[in-house]
Amino acid sequence: MVIPGAEYAVIGGSGTFKICFPEELHLNGVEVSGEDLVFDTPYGKSPPFKLLQVAGEDGGSFQVLTCKMHGWRQGVARGVASQQVFWVLREAGVKRIIAEGGVGAINHLLKPRDVVIPDDYMDFSMRKDTGLEDRYLLVMRDALCPEIRECLVQIAEKDPVYRVFDRGTYVVTDGRHFESPAEVNLFRIGGGDVVGQSLCPEVYLAREIGACYAGVYLVVNHAEGVAEPWRHQELEEIFYTEGYALGKLIIQTLRALSRVRNCSCHDLRKETLLKGIY
Ligand SMILES: [Zn+2]
Repeated sequence: MVIPGAEYAVIGGSGTFKICFPEELHLNGVEVSGEDLVFDTPYGKSPPFKLLQVAGEDGGSFQVLTCKMHGWRQGVARGVASQQVFWVLREAGVKRIIAEGGVGAINHLLKPRDVVIPDDYMDFSMRKDTGLEDRYLLVMRDALCPEIRECLVQIAEKDPVYRVFDRGTYVVTDGRHFESPAEVNLFRIGGGDVVGQSLCPEVYLAREIGACYAGVYLVVNHAEGVAEPWRHQELEEIFYTEGYALGKLIIQTLRALSRVRNCSCHDLRKETLLKGIY
């Protein structure tokens, strides 16, 4: 199947997992022009994508590729799923990516249903060697696009339902299990605010394909040992009910973004100095 051109991508996570995104949002100006699009990649068949046609606030329209749950699925290692997803996004010409997901609160000032738009991360996952090629030196300064983050914050703050945090450090672990109290304490001492399993390697792969990347994350529980023990029922309620607001926030942000990039993300990908080694 030929990969369609698209400048934008939405990588769905646990926030929108339980809804049919974007159809169930019933938004005017958002059309699904393709679904169940599976592409051959050098890493195996991609997860299914949808192609959206979205009307921008400026009167123009643009295409968005989207997949569910970071492309993770049974029988495919998570790092490989990310390579499949980002190979497709590169071939499509994607230049801006918004991801979402649920996170646990390490910072004890956070509580369930808070929205965090992180500005940095710490990678404690083992999925390190998950690039597409070895051509680039990737500078991870401002790894989360400042321009997309600012736009996400502005739109999120208009919704009085949420407390919105416009910065924070996202700690990445492998999963699928949650973290132990001692691990969470280490992350807290190190300056982590929330913990999740998806930001890496996506943030590296985005930089490698020359795309801006930012994420919006919903606190679904306290990490172990922070505040009181979390309740599975509350986690389930958030999982099943918050997808609509998160999905709308992402579409509204895509619409509101300036069509021209005004950030420096693309300057933070340099040619490797290690030519000849690989
Ligand atoms: Zn950027």
